[in-house]
Amino acid sequence: MTEDEQFMLLAMREAEKAREADEVPCGCVVVKDGRVIARGWNQVETLKDATAHAEMLALTAAEAAVGDWRLEGCTVYVTKEPCPMCAGALVHCRPDRVVFGIPDSRGGACGGWINLLDSNPPLNHKCEVQGGVLADACLEQFQSFFRAARAAAKERKRREREEGCDAASD
Ligand SMILES: [Zn+2]
Repeated sequence: MTEDEQFMLLAMREAEKAREADEVPCGCVVVKDGRVIARGWNQVETLKDATAHAEMLALTAAEAAVGDWRLEGCTVYVTKEPCPMCAGALVHCRPDRVVFGIPDSRGGACGGWINLLDSNPPLNHKCEVQGGVLADACLEQFQSFFRAARAAAKERKRREREEGCDAASD
């Protein structure tokens, strides 16, 4: 297993925390000098904050760990391609590298849909980007969450129907 894959596994562990909290399972770790300095998992529902993506929380934690908003020498690992908001934050925080799992052709802003990290004309920071690391495992984590959510919704509807029938027969 490569070093990138090892750190992506740690990002997947963060995503698992999101899944346990009934959040879309996206996770992120920030690594400097071969060591994890910050972690984050998607907490949009938990915090009722649409900006609480895994990357945003991990970047804020990394800035606190480094004591600077510049994340020079850092690599950001995230299980899904960052959205435009998170890619914008990455440009501002200036990590050296961004490594993601699942590419996102509909909403990804690191080359999937658009590319804010290597745009023309360029923004004020370019990151080296590597996508598709443990993509299959990250995708399975994502899809199993949505499968379970769909099954739960179906079960809820079935119960509602049953309760509706009970009420009608009373
Ligand atoms: Zn995002």
